[in-house]
Amino acid sequence: MTTVPPRPLPRPPALDRVHDSASIRVQHRRLLLGLLWSQAEGSRAELARSTGLSRSTVSAIVSELLDTGLVHETRAGASTGGRRPIILAFRDDAAQLIGVDLGASHVSVARSDLRLRIAGQRFARHDVRDDPWGALALVERLVRELLEEVGGVNSLIGIGVAAPSPIDPRRPGRLSHSVVPRWRGIDLVEVLGAAFGRPVFVDNDANAGALAELWWGAGRSGGDLAFVKVATGVGAGLVLGGELFRGTAGIAGEIGHLTVDPQGPECLCGLRGCLVTFVGRAALIETVRKRRDAFRSSPLHVDPITLEGIVRAALDGDPLGQEIIEEAGRILGVGVASLLNVLNPGRVVLSGELVEAGELLLSPLRQTVRSRALAESIAHVDIDRSTLGPKGVVMGAATLVLQAALAEPALIPQMRRAQE
Ligand SMILES: [Zn+2]
Repeated sequence: MTTVPPRPLPRPPALDRVHDSASIRVQHRRLLLGLLWSQAEGSRAELARSTGLSRSTVSAIVSELLDTGLVHETRAGASTGGRRPIILAFRDDAAQLIGVDLGASHVSVARSDLRLRIAGQRFARHDVRDDPWGALALVERLVRELLEEVGGVNSLIGIGVAAPSPIDPRRPGRLSHSVVPRWRGIDLVEVLGAAFGRPVFVDNDANAGALAELWWGAGRSGGDLAFVKVATGVGAGLVLGGELFRGTAGIAGEIGHLTVDPQGPECLCGLRGCLVTFVGRAALIETVRKRRDAFRSSPLHVDPITLEGIVRAALDGDPLGQEIIEEAGRILGVGVASLLNVLNPGRVVLSGELVEAGELLLSPLRQTVRSRALAESIAHVDIDRSTLGPKGVVMGAATLVLQAALAEPALIPQMRRAQE
């Protein structure tokens, strides 16, 4: 079988307890579809061999899959003595995924195929934190625009949303009151679900970034990984044992609220001296405001000061910008060192607007980590920028949908129609 791995399926589908013939058929369908997706192609005989299913079972399910259009026959393979086998391949373009990256101050929406190749993208600045209804209306408009390019909602499996808030997996449509108080009472799974008639999956933005690394980026080679996003806030998504680790109420990875200074400034969360009060967007902008009088020729004598502006000034050699990025790197290093001491991941992947500063940020960060994390954990960690770049979070949001569809193929419109 030709192997074209984005990555093998995260986990073999769990066998349900009920073993009536209908549920066994559902499980077999899931197994074969998942295998064809992860291997990209194969013959009926190869599918039977790798799954242990009988040739007749495989043939029956394959003809169902051929009817749905999710799989097609491509060519004749090499003969192993008898007739040349027909090679089946997964059709990546048979259905659509939508990913939504709800930032604190932007909305980014992407439409992709089932291999996460992005076919259309929209971006808009918006005050997502303080104007939830406006943000949801904007998301709806942008998603409709993207779907019009493929004739509407018909081939859409679902919508994945990365939110700038911890998400409790038990109530994924609700954002955290303490982080985004204006979203109180709004269930975005209900709102977007009602607008498009499709399932909606929500996770925290750093978790979405971590999921994207696991499926498409630095995490493909396996091992435990921490994805750290540094922009308006600071958060980490954790991949432990091949799965996202969310914690009991979805708070795992909130490193922005690690205490850096017990006597430090009060944080939005109500605690004191959190990491984000030193390296979050608002903190860095405030630091520029306080210090810029001492740097007469700095380009940061503009209002409003932006994080993007600070990063650009630093990259252009401005001493004030560089001082601020280096300090942020050192303080962030304290947080990353704590993460290493607690979880001992093999990889720390950084992303977000501040990380655009590259080595100006990473070099002091690594230096601090070396002086503050236990030697054994430093010896086995690779700390670097995400290779997926800014689109990682939106890719992770779309991957939430793909992951759900491979685990439950009835979510795919063609499968659902075939079974009706
Ligand atoms: Zn805090």
